[in-house]
Amino acid sequence: MSFPLSDEDRDVQARARTLADELIPFEVEAELHDGELPPDVVAAHEKRVRELNLEAINMPKELGGGGLTTLQQVLVEEQIGRVTNALGWVVHTPAGWLPGVATPHQLDRWVIPTIRGDLRECYAITEEAAGSDVDGIQATVARDGEEYVLNGVKWHVTSFNLSDYVFFQGKLTAGSHEGAHAFVIADIDTPGIRVVRTPAYTHTYAHHHPVVAFEEVRVPAENLVGAEGDGMRFAHEWFRYERLMIAARSLGAAERLTEESTAFARDRQAYGHPIFDYQAIQFMLADSVTELWAARLMTYRTAQAIDEGEDVKVQHAQCSMAKLFASEMAGRVADRAVQIFGGRGFMRENVAERFSRELRVDRIWEGTSEIQRVIIADQLAKRGVAVVR
Ligand SMILES: Cc1cc2nc3c(=O)[nH]c(=O)nc-3n(C[C@H](O)[C@H](O)[C@H](O)COP(=O)(O)OP(=O)(O)OC[C@H]3O[C@@H](n4cnc5c(N)ncnc54)[C@H](O)[C@@H]3O)c2cc1C
Repeated sequence: MSFPLSDEDRDVQARARTLADELIPFEVEAELHDGELPPDVVAAHEKRVRELNLEAINMPKELGGGGLTTLQQVLVEEQIGRVTNALGWVVHTPAGWLPGVATPHQLDRWVIPTIRGDLRECYAITEEAAGSDVDGIQATVARDGEEYVLNGVKWHVTSFNLSDYVFFQGKLTAGSHEGAHAFVIADIDTPGIRVVRTPAYTHTYAHHHPVVAFEEVRVPAENLVGAEGDGMRFAHEWFRYERLMIAARSLGAAERLTEESTAFARDRQAYGHPIFDYQAIQFMLADSVTELWAARLMTYRTAQAIDEGEDVKVQHAQCSMAKLFASEMAGRVADRAVQIFGGRGFMRENVAERFSRELRVDRIWEGTSEIQRVIIADQLAKRGVAVVR
């Protein structure tokens, strides 16, 4: 029995699947060229996103976004997750929490152009000495007349090389919220922002994750998002959303890996039989498809509960559970797929090889697996097992 989806849900899902199927043939070229595709190909992919009505799917319709339900967004991200090399990131999901707190100036200046696809953003929260423990950041936000002055060195700033503006998180140096966090928007070309270095990472993506220094960066006071002291709230909203979407993408990756490794096992002959005939292979695939089903039910149901207005603390715990389980599940599925493909599974032209590298970070970013367990255990202590009823 399949999960109950409306006709509209299935339509969104089918459009996303079409896009993913069109992107997949470009993976190996991207893999062999540092994640890059020719500009005309990238432009064609962006055009397809607009034609398929998949731009800014998480943003309100009244601002020009797709206005999809959380479940529909999960269905889209699941399809995107079937594609390696971050080619699926062409489906851009801007900061969904921002319209609710943005000033009219911020809506005009950043939010609406981002929804239109004219601007791109990135997040600068993590530092060398503060990742999981976000409150350990040393970056500062100092009020000076009608400006804020930003200082700090941020690590792993994903997509900085392709962005127009950055959300900078720092601690306030003075005022009634001294020591609390502030979230400030800075255009990338503001004087004082510079790339310190661009380290190489395990995956092969066109999106880089540089170390970025903010040195006496002056921005107008109107660039502050929300109120002084609100910084951590926005980070938590973003984490909750992204954790669920990581779970969704993990489903797509696991489905593709299971599908491709099953097809290979049916075809590949060893000792006079398809290797699918051997129980050692069957059991790996049986475990993969079973775990995929469990993760899918958990992720879909979490999304549905959000759409139904579930208590936000319960949402937070369930998004952590979905991310923890689905990302670890996809890692196991990828490892089994490499094993089933044998030597081919170690070649970069093979989907299992690429996913076995790419999926690893899903257990680290947006909160490590350990941090998800800390969040889940905290809710278990406060609410008991009611957190999963
Ligand atoms: C590819 C990539 C892209 C990223 N993109 C961004 C980005 O765009 N913007 C941004 O701001 N950040 C980004 N990050 C940063 C990412 O969110 C952090 O790496 C992550 O939160 C972990 O922080 P850390 O690396 O400092 O590890 P640490 O926090 O130092 O953790 C190290 C280890 O200690 C464990 N640990 C820590 N605290 C506890 C605890 N209380 N209990 C048990 N174990 C614990 C962790 O689970 C981990 O195993 C990115 C990271 C990567 C790898």
